[in-house]
Amino acid sequence: MSEATTPETPPTGAGGETVTRFAPSPTGLLHLGHAHSALVAQAAARHAGGRFVLRIEDIDTVRCKAGFVDAILEDLTWLGLSWDGPVLRQRERQGAHAEALARLDALGLLYPCFCTRKEIRAEIQQAAAAPHGPAGGAYPGTCRRLTSAQRAARHAEGQPYALRLDVNAAHERVGFPAWHDRHAGTATADLRPGGDIIIARKDIGTSYHLAVTLDDAAQGVTLVTRGADLIDSTPVHRVLQALLDLPVPEWAHHGLLADAAGRRLAKRDRSQGIRYLREAGYTPAQVRAMADFPADTPAPYSA
Ligand code: GLU
Repeated sequence: MSEATTPETPPTGAGGETVTRFAPSPTGLLHLGHAHSALVAQAAARHAGGRFVLRIEDIDTVRCKAGFVDAILEDLTWLGLSWDGPVLRQRERQGAHAEALARLDALGLLYPCFCTRKEIRAEIQQAAAAPHGPAGGAYPGTCRRLTSAQRAARHAEGQPYALRLDVNAAHERVGFPAWHDRHAGTATADLRPGGDIIIARKDIGTSYHLAVTLDDAAQGVTLVTRGADLIDSTPVHRVLQALLDLPVPEWAHHGLLADAAGRRLAKRDRSQGIRYLREAGYTPAQVRAMADFPADTPAPYSA
């Protein structure tokens, strides 16, 4: 296995145009945190003379609602945001997602996982009692150890399954690729502490990780701007890029909006909703100011 290496020159977006994106999931109405993210992305693109693209992340057929898509587009427009090119609906990309999944499978990097959450919890508790149990809440690899006969039997019974990435096998193949964040600097992607992650969920046959990685590449995104709450996902995306020979963007994880007491804004708080503020009589400029860069969040181009 190639051990962790930090190249002297971290990978960055293609030398040409800067392309940023905003990628909301239509599981609810937009709130100030979303507006912040969209403004950061648009500002970074405009500053670099590049493009800002929009993607609706609607692969979760259970949680995403069509009505929210229209509401999101309307609220963004009301805020004064505009994006370049057509809006990409992630659901339209299912064929490309399935193709990539098949490629990973053909490389021998995926295995079906039949475990329920309850079974995983029980296994972790049991393993934690052992001296060399897995770290934290990482998947203990139960289904990785199934024999092909056991797998075949479960498939024959029609048991639902997710597909997990064998992270050790993945690192064997691509090593520990570096990634660069404009604020946090350069890091190497090491997925071992998190254990084998789900690449295709039982219910939707794909995952946020796979879809976001493929679709950022498909939209030519060179600077992934998003909230710092998603930074732990980035090593997964970086490894997927290496496995699937995708171009490597740069990242800019921005700080999350906080209230005056420094508490992170609660998404469920209705009074932070763009729709609510709009109906309460605030102007787009006022809402933009509320969502704009607070002191602790440098705009991505200032770093
Ligand atoms: N769709 C995700 C969300 O709404 C954001 C994904 C991303 O920016 O990478 O939380």
